[in-house]
Amino acid sequence: MSERAAPFYCPYCGDEDLRPSEAGHGAWECAACNRAFRLSFLGLLASGLTRGDRDDHDG
Ligand SMILES: [Zn+2]
Repeated sequence: MSERAAPFYCPYCGDEDLRPSEAGHGAWECAACNRAFRLSFLGLLASGLTRGDRDDHDG
């Protein structure tokens, strides 16, 4: 499974007109605001899963 992260919206203008950039792996170009950006995977969060969404309130 190749590492591929496809953004749905441009992080700068929020447009959906994104296309893969030729700048390299994980690079995308936004046709709306003419910006190029890169997505990179930083790693897994060590304590990211300890924060649950359910509230266990007793009383
Ligand atoms: Zn944009």
